[in-house]
Amino acid sequence: MNFYSLNKKAPNVTFKDAVIKGIAPDRGLYFPESITPLPKEFFDSIENLTNIEIALKAIRQFVSDDINDEKLKDILEGVLSFDFPVIEINENVGTLELFHGPTLAFKDVGAGFMARCLGHFSEENKNEVTVLVATSGDTGGAVANGFLDVEGVNVVILYPSGKVSDIQEKQLTTLGKNITALEVNGTFDDCQTMVKTAFLDTDLTDAMQLTSANSINVARWLPQMFYFMFAYKQAKSKGKEIVFSIPSGNFGNICAGMIAQQLGLPVKHFIASTNINDVVPRFMDTKSYDPKPSHATISNAMDVGDPSNFIRIRHIFNDDFDQIAKHLSSYSYTDEQTKEAMKKLYNDFNYTADPHGAVGYLGLQKYQETNPDTYGIFLETAHPVKFLDVVEDTIQENIEIPEKIIKQMKKKKKSIEISTYEELKNYLLVAKK
Ligand SMILES: *Cc1c(COP(=O)(O)O)cnc(C)c1O
Repeated sequence: MNFYSLNKKAPNVTFKDAVIKGIAPDRGLYFPESITPLPKEFFDSIENLTNIEIALKAIRQFVSDDINDEKLKDILEGVLSFDFPVIEINENVGTLELFHGPTLAFKDVGAGFMARCLGHFSEENKNEVTVLVATSGDTGGAVANGFLDVEGVNVVILYPSGKVSDIQEKQLTTLGKNITALEVNGTFDDCQTMVKTAFLDTDLTDAMQLTSANSINVARWLPQMFYFMFAYKQAKSKGKEIVFSIPSGNFGNICAGMIAQQLGLPVKHFIASTNINDVVPRFMDTKSYDPKPSHATISNAMDVGDPSNFIRIRHIFNDDFDQIAKHLSSYSYTDEQTKEAMKKLYNDFNYTADPHGAVGYLGLQKYQETNPDTYGIFLETAHPVKFLDVVEDTIQENIEIPEKIIKQMKKKKKSIEISTYEELKNYLLVAKK
């Protein structure tokens, strides 16, 4: 099966080429040419399958012949080596914890899958690939860890100096080997601008195969559909219709859930919960898509003013507003409301949520006010320890720091400081030699 560009002005490509290119030459996002639903029996007896068996079935048609069964299984075993538990909050609410991976972020699965696919393709081609990525925090750690020791792939991560948490910085800067951290004297937007400039710079693109590792890439985006299937497997016995509330920034995760639904996963409704960066909630109110510059919040992985994957969601539903509204509701919350939700979850249900999960909980509550006969699952996308200051301040308790984080905090930071695009370019050209 091939992928086409949503801008419709570029040739269709295989899975392999979509992964290597990241984005189509016409700057469109790649989208699968067809989505063939899985048989009903697959979902009816999903509780008898292992996570690896579920993932293999789900992703098989998208990868087609570019990776054989044995290799694909191998890749999935490497990526899905931890738990994805649904923790009960109350009778009608559970939370799907996605933070048990190596960097405690849900992005570990997508980053790990993309890394292994790219490593496999580069082995076949004997071509080096350079992954260039800007991060405001979570993406960098997951990408760094996912690509560590992958042969034929060099990773260059740009992050804004002094603007990521200590834990996040250590996750980016202590691995070494094929991972280089560039510490940019500027903001996240400056990092992102440099990366975008590099992709358009023919001096660089002629000299090396550059690719990005954000959720635009199909290999980072599609594996996220597994989460919704793993959750369904656990919540099915509740015997109620299931709704998911997803704390959303670039809308890659929720959009992958919608692909799972297209494959036949029984989902009654999706709720996109956001912080005050509310372009999608406003779209659902006004039918008008009106991007704005992003505002900083305590759920900073969702500080996105123009979510890159929303166009894929519109496309799934043929850009028909009524169809979108049938499957999607979207609500926005302030930092104050988010902290209140964190307190409530802690005091009433003894559950420590991070700010992103708390936003998800708020959206779910709102939806269940008018749809009480549902079982609601909100996604917990990061371990609360990654947002230590705000979580401890809010719930007035110390939280326990996992062993793997303590180890990492002791390692020595290594980064290269840069201030301008020219410095980035020189670094890339010299590193290539
Ligand atoms: C990236 C991220 C999100 C947002 O996910 P999208 O797929 O961009 O919508 C939410 N929470 C955390 C902790 C993240 O790192």
